[in-house]
Amino acid sequence: MQKDQLLTRRRTLIAGAAALGAAGAAGVLATVTGDRAARPAAPAAGARAAHHPLKPSAYRLQPLTGYGPPRTVAGRPPVRSEPLLRVSGRGRVMVLTFDDGPDPRYTPDILDTLARYEVRAMFFVCGEMVPHNQDLLARMADEGHVVGNHTWSHPLLTRLSRGRIRSELERTCDVIETAYGERPEWFRAPYGAWNRATFQIGAELGMEPLAWTVDTLDWTEPGTRTIVGRVEDGAAPGVVVLSHDAGGDRSQSVRALRAYLPELLDSGYLVTVPRRQQA
Ligand SMILES: [Zn+2]
Repeated sequence: MQKDQLLTRRRTLIAGAAALGAAGAAGVLATVTGDRAARPAAPAAGARAAHHPLKPSAYRLQPLTGYGPPRTVAGRPPVRSEPLLRVSGRGRVMVLTFDDGPDPRYTPDILDTLARYEVRAMFFVCGEMVPHNQDLLARMADEGHVVGNHTWSHPLLTRLSRGRIRSELERTCDVIETAYGERPEWFRAPYGAWNRATFQIGAELGMEPLAWTVDTLDWTEPGTRTIVGRVEDGAAPGVVVLSHDAGGDRSQSVRALRAYLPELLDSGYLVTVPRRQQA
């Protein structure tokens, strides 16, 4: 996709995205279940502790092994009329999401930061980015991250026929299954532009629609401190944060994560991935 074209289309939709954010803040939907509550953190392993001395926090996750998302595919979800905008769960749960990737220039840095703090996140990938970056999806699987479907080519779905919408989503489910090992349980419409057909087809493909609560607007490259400030100002229990690991120069997004993630953890947030409610 052309970057300029992408940015233009994003700008035209920013009002809609802001409206979704406002709805999320009002708590319109709270139907996904946060991950289990954190157990008291074990002392970090020696080498890691030596390199990254951090305040002990009862909310830090245990090492990732054994904590991954459920390995079974949930049943067909309901057909919704709005996307989910936030998560519910015990304690101060937050979810970080990264869209449009993977991109080998930025995604590995983001994965490194998440690994350093033993935190899992969601990556809404574009199918066309996956075939030449299968190693990154394999790493996401190994490290317990959740991969969602962000369509094949990042189109405005509301302008497409049902057949094209299905193709965009289904091809992406297939390539995710190949590279990640499981079909996605979540999808997110590009530009936050949903319609009835996308909800219906997403549900038929076994996916729940997840939007976001806090938009960092990192794709506008507003400066690392601005991105950090948006996350910290928006931090609250149940918040889903939108950032990007591809689609342009994402070095600010990479640096921002290094700053806000330890601050969220030290503020007592459990940064994790949602778990779908089993029917
Ligand atoms: Zn996107």
